[in-house]
Amino acid sequence: MATYNPYENMLHILDKAAEVLGYEKKDYEFVRYPERELTVSIPIVMDNGDIQVFSGYRVHHNTARGAAKGGIRFHPESDENEVKALAAWMTIKNAIGNIPYGGAKGGIKVDPRKLSERELQRLTRAYVRRIFPIIGVDQDVPAPDVNTNGQIMAWIADEYAALSGTWQPGIVTGKPLSIGGSLGRNEATGRGLTYTLETWCEKNNLKINELTMLVQGFGNVGSVGALLMHRKGVKITTIGDINGTWQNPNGLDIEAMYIYANSHGRSLKGYTEEGATMIPDSELFAQKVDVIFAAAMENQINENTMKKVQARLILEGANGPTTEEADNYFEEKGIEVLPDVMSNVGGVVGSYFEWVQNRTGYYWTEEEYNEKLKKKMNQGYEDVWAMKEKYHVTYRLACYMLALQRVVEAQKTRGFLG
Ligand code: GLU
Repeated sequence: MATYNPYENMLHILDKAAEVLGYEKKDYEFVRYPERELTVSIPIVMDNGDIQVFSGYRVHHNTARGAAKGGIRFHPESDENEVKALAAWMTIKNAIGNIPYGGAKGGIKVDPRKLSERELQRLTRAYVRRIFPIIGVDQDVPAPDVNTNGQIMAWIADEYAALSGTWQPGIVTGKPLSIGGSLGRNEATGRGLTYTLETWCEKNNLKINELTMLVQGFGNVGSVGALLMHRKGVKITTIGDINGTWQNPNGLDIEAMYIYANSHGRSLKGYTEEGATMIPDSELFAQKVDVIFAAAMENQINENTMKKVQARLILEGANGPTTEEADNYFEEKGIEVLPDVMSNVGGVVGSYFEWVQNRTGYYWTEEEYNEKLKKKMNQGYEDVWAMKEKYHVTYRLACYMLALQRVVEAQKTRGFLG
């Protein structure tokens, strides 16, 4: 199999979007390149006195519409190409959500489970010192992503305060409530995905409580999304995470799984339930369900797994779970894909709400937050829908077209001359 390069994948779809819109290369060439890519080396004194050097990245893909915005992930497979693609997807996503941001992403190549809490804190703080010149409340605002959480965001905000001499909570989003986090942010991605699925049901004259689903991934996005969709009546029969694949044909007890994972370090390892069995991981995508909720990592539904799919809808909670090849195959087969850049936009929209509250110093109730989130999600869906209907294209292509239009318009308005 050729090496999978997610940035190349992104470029192919971007070029296709430009073609359908009738753009010439010169109209959008600037979006094909990241504005700024920073690679850093981060030496850390480990608890045993050894020194280890980690690689870290921060990429600003495009800032035509506003400050760079996007999460930071800690993952052993994180590298320049992955972070570059993730940054570009943030540009698209922020344009779909119509929030005043460009796209960014960061990563550290590390398996955080192998570090102690103190090592993790040292690594986070040292990374902030390295990327300090390119982050700022109006410059670049990080957030959580795979394997990072509120505690890590708190260390980032604290290190930034130490370096800059001022406490600026809007430097990072996804913070704990005690230091300027927002009610609702922790659930925002999963909640947004639930709104997306509800809208899809409306468009297809289906009832959400008649759907069956399988879930891949049970981190923040997978677990909260599964819980909220389960509460809407979706029957979730199969869940796979890194520890195995659980199945209960009558529907898994999602409330119990959610509580279990949260009290076991976000892991389902050791979870048991009456009526549930473990099945081989390779059978996950082959389950006969209506919806596949892909909430693990990129490149999961690919040329090797796509043919197993029996579902009629792929709901992308993770960023980039479906490869271009699988996307084309699903289009041929009439299997719809609700793409990451539209369906998981709730996370960054929620971050935007947190940032707005930080900047005004006035904090909202959870009801206000969720109501505004719903409005934004619905508006994003309708904007994409209008594009999809007008040009008869897939959701993903419609997303790229809409985002490209918005980014190009902003850049044109600002002017191209240096
Ligand atoms: N990491 C999330 C995403 O991929 C959130 C980004 C943010 O809030 O800035 O959308």
